[in-house]
Amino acid sequence: MDIDQHAEELASALGQDKEEVRQDLENLLEYSVPIDEAKQSVRRKYGGGGGDGGTPESKAIADLTPDGGNVTVTARVLSVGRRRIRYQGDETVIREGELADESGVVSYTAWTDFGFEPGDTVTVGNAGVREWEGEPELNMGESSTVALESETLDVPQRVGGERDLVDLAAGDRGRTVEARVLEVEQRVIDGRDGETTILSGVLGDETARLPFTDWDPTPELEEGAELRFEDVYVREFRGVPSVNLTEFTEVSPASVEVSDEAPEVDVAEAVESGGMYDVAVVGNVIEVRDGSGLIERCPECGRLVQNGQCRSHGQVDPDDDLRIKAIVDDGTATVTAILGREITEDVYGGTLEDALSAARDAMSREVVAEDVRGKLVGREYRVRGHLSVDEYGANLDASAFDETDDDAAARARAALEELGGDAEVGA
Ligand SMILES: [Zn+2]
Repeated sequence: MDIDQHAEELASALGQDKEEVRQDLENLLEYSVPIDEAKQSVRRKYGGGGGDGGTPESKAIADLTPDGGNVTVTARVLSVGRRRIRYQGDETVIREGELADESGVVSYTAWTDFGFEPGDTVTVGNAGVREWEGEPELNMGESSTVALESETLDVPQRVGGERDLVDLAAGDRGRTVEARVLEVEQRVIDGRDGETTILSGVLGDETARLPFTDWDPTPELEEGAELRFEDVYVREFRGVPSVNLTEFTEVSPASVEVSDEAPEVDVAEAVESGGMYDVAVVGNVIEVRDGSGLIERCPECGRLVQNGQCRSHGQVDPDDDLRIKAIVDDGTATVTAILGREITEDVYGGTLEDALSAARDAMSREVVAEDVRGKLVGREYRVRGHLSVDEYGANLDASAFDETDDDAAARARAALEELGGDAEVGA
């Protein structure tokens, strides 16, 4: 839809002049206001509530759709997070989180402080429904109302934002975690208000480790500190969930157990989660992909070079490197384990220099990949690292790569052979 169509639709719904509505919309769009919010603002200006101007319909959460006009919803508040954003040139603090009723869960954004807390049962009147990351989201503005209900709505979901690190996912808001600061460093970035100091590092609890960014550096945040963080949000950073602390995050002392082990997960489960910072999977290497063994990298950007050509830097004098891209299958799904130079040297049983001299002797760089292929394919490994998912599939950037116990593998093979034999007899 172009702006003309939006203006026409809105003008006819509001019974207003199309040119005037169009002018209002254009003014808002100039401030980079998303079209849906611009339309909401124009609706408010002309006193229009829902899409058809009638009283908003009372709806179950499962029935909310982005094109159904404004609604009334009675729900339990699961979480409340605060975030400062820039909107129409002004800074404003929004509240965001999740609401639930018996039919389902919906996330919300409130542009005004309605004062509700997690656990409250509320009736939200005249709220808009927009689409956010493919799902309907309730949008509460100045024309919305929130009434506290005296009777508590029972919902199956957990009330409150408390979570273990392993349960956090990108898009979560208003979460509370208890964790130990495993690593922390100060960084100066170019923010929208000039140079800003932030903290970044890694948090750990008994279930997982996750990277974090503290946008409003907290003095208590030192390496080894065990802390409770109330009101954090989670977003994806380099393919994995990252915990974000803001000026609204309340930090207090806590006592936290931390596990040195990465959670061991099914590949299918890890892929489904969209990315995990530190996980382990156990599976068989079924293939060593092209681009493994001796490779060449651009000295400028580190990217793979083919025939001396970098995609960004053109003709370069490349650096030699070693790496392996191994496809690991655990029976639920496959993931490409990416092994850097150090682990590749372990697997190969020699250094980069050894590999280069083997390639010279054989007059082919491919001998290194072939050697590695012979060592890995068909064997079972435990791979630990950062798992990220993109349009091409799942990658596991390995920090550790160990063959599983030989005896166990042999027992598994024997058991499989036995099963195969039985199956043949049965058939
Ligand atoms: Zn380059």
